[in-house]
Amino acid sequence: MNFEEIKLAESQSLMPTYARFNVAVAGGRGSVVFDSQGKSYIDFGSGIGVNSLGYSDAEWVSAVQEQAARLAHISNLYYNEVQISFAKRLCQMAGMARAFLANSGAEANECAIKLARKYSHDKYGAGRSVIISLKNSFHGRTVTTLSATGQEVFHQYFFPFTEGFVFVEAGDLNGLKAKLCGDVCAVMLECVQGEGGVVPLDPDFVRQVEKICRENDILLMVDEVQTGAGRTGKFLACEHYGIKPDIVTMAKGLGGGLPIGACLCGEQLSGVLSAGTHGSTFGGNPVACAGAKAVLDRLSTCGFLDGVTQKGEYMRRRLESMQNVKSVRGLGLMIGIEVEKGDAKEIAAKCLENGLLVLTAKTLLRLLPPLTITYDEIDRGLEILEATLKEVRA
Ligand SMILES: *Cc1c(COP(=O)(O)O)cnc(C)c1O
Repeated sequence: MNFEEIKLAESQSLMPTYARFNVAVAGGRGSVVFDSQGKSYIDFGSGIGVNSLGYSDAEWVSAVQEQAARLAHISNLYYNEVQISFAKRLCQMAGMARAFLANSGAEANECAIKLARKYSHDKYGAGRSVIISLKNSFHGRTVTTLSATGQEVFHQYFFPFTEGFVFVEAGDLNGLKAKLCGDVCAVMLECVQGEGGVVPLDPDFVRQVEKICRENDILLMVDEVQTGAGRTGKFLACEHYGIKPDIVTMAKGLGGGLPIGACLCGEQLSGVLSAGTHGSTFGGNPVACAGAKAVLDRLSTCGFLDGVTQKGEYMRRRLESMQNVKSVRGLGLMIGIEVEKGDAKEIAAKCLENGLLVLTAKTLLRLLPPLTITYDEIDRGLEILEATLKEVRA
């Protein structure tokens, strides 16, 4: 099919849930993707932070291929070693005690919400089920994770939504304290709000929230779906904040391109979701776990995460000196760019024409390149971005 045929077939066969860029991606290598006509693009988006090792990474591909050939799926009615050794490694790296494996970020957050509510129900009985979430947050697309998302635009059409979520402004400690009426079981937050526009939370606020949680036996749940798995230069972004969450959720970059989500908890929660209270047919799929294990192996190689930090600093420094850039924020290779002039979506479309994939978040350009991106690929991408930003100004 040529591009026009692909586009037509899409409109005739898929629900129109996505506002897509004008390109059909056919393949990739390193941090470069190719479209259906063979044109290449530097990828500063990595499938929204998913392709953490870039495209066609040799070790990741062979781990996945070998597992697919040996055992693609087996029910969670049975033990399988690849899932279990992956979970063990994941818990070690995250400093957590137990994992539940799911297939997406929303599912990982669903698990976190069930876990928090059941912990509280087991200990205090019914009626202590409220979860405090932050305004401008994003936690997923299921009915319950939409409810947990602190943006009004997501609370439309699909009524009735799941009850029991209240929202406070990030940084508003008094606002948060005012919501504590004995019915709160958890606080849920992203250390850097991703979809909300790459907004890092104030470290002092986050540490105060942790303190309040500790004093009131309220669980601290950190959504690391976008920030986790090395994206910010640490395995988890919460490490930058010096906090120890009770629950951590991960997905996106964890699988390196295959769907996997994880809800991790500390020792005190390890037995809460007992047999029959939660589950997933595909969760912990052996092929996804083999790919994710290859990601963990790479993240633990000597100097890898420091390399992410250095590449992030290099990119931010160069971006800050570009025309039409008002400000640059973020952590590691999670970068938000506030432009002086022009619409972010239109700039992203122009970048595409010029051979560069970038993302947007609210009114910002957002960069989430593969963690394995080379300095040569970074330079080539930044050159295109700089030229495109200049065009907007003209
Ligand atoms: C992407 C994202 C989600 C949802 O993940 P899906 O895999 O799309 O369900 C949840 N939380 C955060 C912070 C995200 O960035």
